[in-house]
Formats: sequence, C-alpha cells, structure tokens
Amino acid sequence: MEIQKKFKAGETIIAQGEQGDCAYIIENGKVEITIEQADGSILNVGTRGSGAMIGEMSIIDNAPRTATIIALEDCSLLEITKEDFAKRLEKADPVIRMASKVIITRYRDMVTRANIQNEKSLWPPAELVELGYSEESEAINTIRLASEFKEALKNGEICLHYQPIIDLKTNEVSGFEALMRWFHPEKGFISPGLFIPVIEQSDLMIEASKWALKEACMALKRIEGATGYDSHLHMSVNFSSDDFSSEDFVENVYNTLSETDVQAQQLHLEITERLLMQQPENAKDTLNMCKKAGMQISIDDFGTGYSSLSYLQYFPIDILKIDRTFIQDMHKNEDSLALVKSIVYLGKNLNKHIIAEGVECQEEADLLKEMDCDSVQGFFFAKPMSEKDIIELIHNRIEKRA
Ligand code: C2E
Ligand code: CA
Ligand code: CA
Repeated sequence: MEIQKKFKAGETIIAQGEQGDCAYIIENGKVEITIEQADGSILNVGTRGSGAMIGEMSIIDNAPRTATIIALEDCSLLEITKEDFAKRLEKADPVIRMASKVIITRYRDMVTRANIQNEKSLWPPAELVELGYSEESEAINTIRLASEFKEALKNGEICLHYQPIIDLKTNEVSGFEALMRWFHPEKGFISPGLFIPVIEQSDLMIEASKWALKEACMALKRIEGATGYDSHLHMSVNFSSDDFSSEDFVENVYNTLSETDVQAQQLHLEITERLLMQQPENAKDTLNMCKKAGMQISIDDFGTGYSSLSYLQYFPIDILKIDRTFIQDMHKNEDSLALVKSIVYLGKNLNKHIIAEGVECQEEADLLKEMDCDSVQGFFFAKPMSEKDIIELIHNRIEKRA
C-alpha cells in the first residue's frame, strides 16, 4: 500500500549515501535534487514537482541513495515501498519485469560510472546484475517462445484441430470449435494453454487469430463439401481482446467470410469472459457490428471471469459456454450442480443458447439434458481432432443413422 508522507520546506527527504527502501511520488510541493561528487563539489541536478517520482532506484536494489533530495516547499509524498513494488512486479508479465529491473540497473550503473557517487560503490557491476534478472525471470523463455511461434506460423507447424459441439435435442453435431495446435520439431506438442497466454501478450495474437479464422473457415467449407452438410454446421473461433480492438478486425472477418464463402450465421466468435472485461469499450462496437452481420457471439469460460452479470445486457451475446470446472464437479458436488442449473436457467431466461464445456461422462450429459441445456462439448462425445478425422466421424454418424 502506498503511504502518504509529509515534509516541511527545508527538510531532507532522501540523503545521499543512506540506505533507501522506497520511492516517492510527489503529490504536492517541490523538491531539489543535489549530488555530492567524488571531489566534494555539489552538483545541482534540478527540481521536481507534482507527479514526479523520486528515489526510484531503491525499489529495485539495495545500493545507497545516489542523491540528496530536499523539500523546497511543504511536500506531500506517496511512498512506494520496495516490498510493494516487488509484489506488483511478480504479477507483471515476465518481459516487463525484466525490462523494468534492467532499465533502473543501467541508470544506476551510469550514475556510478559518471563518478558522481562515492567511488567505493557497494553496487556490483551491471553486467552481473542484469544477467541475474534475465535468469531469474521467465522473460527469455517468453521471448523465445513468441519468436519461435512467429516462425512456426510461417513454417506450417501450427494447425487447427476441431472439437465437435453436439445439439442435445437432436444428438447431432451442430458445429465445431477450432483449437490451435503446435507441433514443434524438437519440443514436440506444445499445449495452447502454454503458448496462447504468451502470444496474447505479444503483438502476434492478431496475426495468429487472422490465420486461425481463415484456416477454420476454409476447413468448414471442405468438411461441408466432403459430408454434404451444406451451410448447416457452425465454426467457433477463439479470439482475444486485442483482436476486437484492432482496427481492421471487422473488415478482415467480412473479407474472410466472402473469400471462403462461409455464411456469417455459421461463424461463432468466442471470447472469454475474462478478456472481454479488459476491453469493454472497443469490444462493444466491434461485437455489435459482427452481430448485425449475422455472426453469433459466444462467451467462453462463462462463470470464471467476472462477478457482475450486468455485462450480459451490455454486450450483444448469443451463447454462454459454461466453464468445464463447473461441469466436472456437477455429479459429485450438490453446490456445483445447483450452480450449473442456475446458469442454464438464467441463460434460458435471457434467451441465450447454452453450451456445457468439458462433458466427460454419460451422467453429466444426462444431467445437462434434464436441465434443458442446449448443447454439449467434451471428451465424452469427441476430443478435438484433425479435419480428416472430423470428416470420418461425420461419415460414421451418417452411416449409423441410415
Ligand atoms: P477453450 O477455448 O476453453 O477450449 C476448450 C479446451 O478444453 C480445449 O483445450 C479442449 O481440448 C479442452 N477440452 C474439451 N473438452 C474437454 C473435456 O471433456 N475434458 C477436458 N479436461 N478438457 C476438454 P486446448 O485445446 O488445450 O485449449 C486450451 C485453451 O487455449 C482454449 O481453451 C483457448 O482458451 C486457447 N486456445 C486454443 N486455440 C486458440 C485459438 O485459436 N485462439 C485463441 N485466442 N485461443 C485459443
Ligand atoms: Ca473456446
Ligand atoms: Ca472454454
């Protein structure tokens, strides 16, 4: 927690050479920064006022303060402690974590080299410190994974698998969810649970999503052609919040639909509740345009991302996908069962189509059918599989019916 501290005009806020363990943001007032050089002369570095940060290097390392800061006027400061900063950094993206530590380390190193600090610095060489930062964080792995993904997309190591979605009323396959797969030549299969969060934090997600959308639409057309299920099946494609805020998202979707000859009604756009909450402003307009064009909007991992349900009115949502964690516990735990029942009831009253995710056994399927849940998706019905296997699965189902 940031703490407010007051200093009277003339008081010393930070003394050069002392151990520091916090930075300050100047809320009100003005300060003067001076540095005592090796030869004893005083260097005036300047003044800082409202909104400026002072003493920032101490929130990263344990070296002594490099400057003296005195209040020129009565000051009110907000304190950011080293512990608080460390806690916040731990939650940050590994690349941000590494970059912020390295930037401050470099700055301190520069100050030391400029000989404006005591020569006998307790501070170890910057090379060593930086090395430590990159080793301790997952930053390198993250950057490497993102750069390998970029290559993988070009080299055809990324493909899509499709998981059937079953209509519980007819017991027929109503469509599929497209799920990305990465077969790395050395590392083997890399789970999307591992690489998607990394890609989402880089600038690659938009490119990856465009690729997935086009690939999924082309596959849908080929599946229709091979099975005779013309324009009856839908394809769900996963998107991230960055996709919805990218300027050409809607245009790209329209273009892809027309190039691949897939009907807008057949395309379901999936976005997780958690991601949708991060970009409400941009997402609303984009989703409205997509909905107007006939596409269906699907909320993924429903029930895990947000505490208020008011967004169900705010966004043009057609489908709720109940997260697998609720479904898993349903037949073992009364509370989970009650929760799923309530979600289905709520969704139906709001005129939403309900899909239960992660259905793994008959018992779960029966319970969902009893509740009047519309559709199911899960290993009990079918795992995600290649386009070739999907075509075979549909052929087998058609044969069984005949
Ligand atoms: P998701 O969108 O919630 O996808 C459903 C995940 O549940 C898939 O994991 C699927 O294989 C798994 N699943 C389906 N049925 C069952 C079941 O009965 N039991 C269990 N235990 N799991 C089941 P997968 O393929 O590993 O994907 C993980 C996540 O990665 C996806 O979760 C989605 O958030 C993300 N993802 C995958 N492909 C894409 C993509 O093309 N774009 C984006 N933005 N995200 C993607
Ligand atoms: Ca999904
Ligand atoms: Ca999901």
